[in-house]
Amino acid sequence: MSGTLYIVSTPIGNLEDLTFRAHRTLKEVQIIAAEDTRHTQKLCSHYGIGTTLTSYHDFNKEEKTPILLEKILEGQSVALVSDAGTPLISDPGYYLLTRAIAKNIPIVPIPGPSAILTALAVSGLPTDAFRYEGFLPKKSGARSRVLQALAEEPQTIILFETPHRIKATLAEIQEIFGTRHLVLARELTKTYEEIIRGSAEEILGKYQTKTPKGEMTLVIAGKPKPKKPPKRKMGANHHLSESVLGDMPPDVLE
Ligand code: SAM
Repeated sequence: MSGTLYIVSTPIGNLEDLTFRAHRTLKEVQIIAAEDTRHTQKLCSHYGIGTTLTSYHDFNKEEKTPILLEKILEGQSVALVSDAGTPLISDPGYYLLTRAIAKNIPIVPIPGPSAILTALAVSGLPTDAFRYEGFLPKKSGARSRVLQALAEEPQTIILFETPHRIKATLAEIQEIFGTRHLVLARELTKTYEEIIRGSAEEILGKYQTKTPKGEMTLVIAGKPKPKKPPKRKMGANHHLSESVLGDMPPDVLE
């Protein structure tokens, strides 16, 4: 009988954020396929998990996928983890998952932390609809084209950014988005967690003499909806002919 492929979320910084179920799964499977085995080893050592680790990342996925699938088909279970958060979210795993689905291998999610929802939940920006864009392109032309398109997006926007690009990105956002409200969520769940709110200019002002360090996620307000013209109130003893009423927008007639 085939084993199972578990997609296991791990902490985005604070090791206490590993769920009980993730802990049990990582203990019980035969293999943990990890983006960086040294990184995951720290988590395993912290929790006394002795499961065999093997590396699985974008550069060895073509060679490693058939090996892992064969082991699962022989009856072993594999847990896929990334360095932090939920695998496949700007992290390796898509190649393995799609091939496992094609082989009818049972797939079980073990949900847990992800920087996207963690940042969104504390942003104070609308959460009913949002657009996750991952990392912006590195090349400046492509980057500014993506930002120009995002400026038209009415939903809350979530981006990942790195410390060495954050200032340039904020400067570009200031230019393209103007005074739009945004939130820089830095080092979430860690000792130096910081959540800064304001326009790109205001946030940049905070970092005039230093560069923000660590992991960071940007949450940007969607494009504001155009304001509706104020409703015009009509007095009760206004008598309009039916032809005039017929031409009026419904909100005026409320
Ligand atoms: N799969 C991960 C997830 O579900 O959160 C995301 C992986 S992506 C390669 C890594 C990026 O996530 C970082 O560069 C940063 O933008 C964001 N990130 C990860 N941990 C974070 C944290 N503790 N605080 C803020 N952003 C974080």
